[in-house]
Amino acid sequence: MIKPLTPQFRSDILESLNKQLEELNSCENNSYVVLQKNTINQFKKLIKSLPDGYPIPVERRKWKMNKYEKAFDVIDTILHLMCGEEREDGYKPSQDEMVNSMEDFKELVERATPKKICHTKEEGSFTFNFGRCECGREILSANDYVKYCPCCGQALDWRVEDEKI
Ligand SMILES: [Zn+2]
Repeated sequence: MIKPLTPQFRSDILESLNKQLEELNSCENNSYVVLQKNTINQFKKLIKSLPDGYPIPVERRKWKMNKYEKAFDVIDTILHLMCGEEREDGYKPSQDEMVNSMEDFKELVERATPKKICHTKEEGSFTFNFGRCECGREILSANDYVKYCPCCGQALDWRVEDEKI
């Protein structure tokens, strides 16, 4: 669905982006959070600069849902349907949507589970650690270990064997 941008719609979008920023501000300020904040701020700039009437793609009720929110929405709807509660818009997830939502959740769990980093090189014994995430991003960690890949958000495990950090 395409909706033309109006002053009201613009302020709704900005409000929802500000809400997301607020939530992120209450998170630990890791590199992944910083990255998301930057993306949202860039998006805010873009929305502010777009002229009235600019066509904005929207999905069902929410202006924009990422795939995990969508997966949550599907599962949430199914649970309500199981209790005999239908949604106001009459939406019922298809079999495919249910299967895809479970796959998306699985992916989310995998990403939040620390994966061993591929150590590329080490300089000295305590100064810098270099590693590569599965997505190919080279990560430099000094003193403190980077917990999440700033590129894809994968949780990282810096242990070489089973040593404790
Ligand atoms: Zn990554």
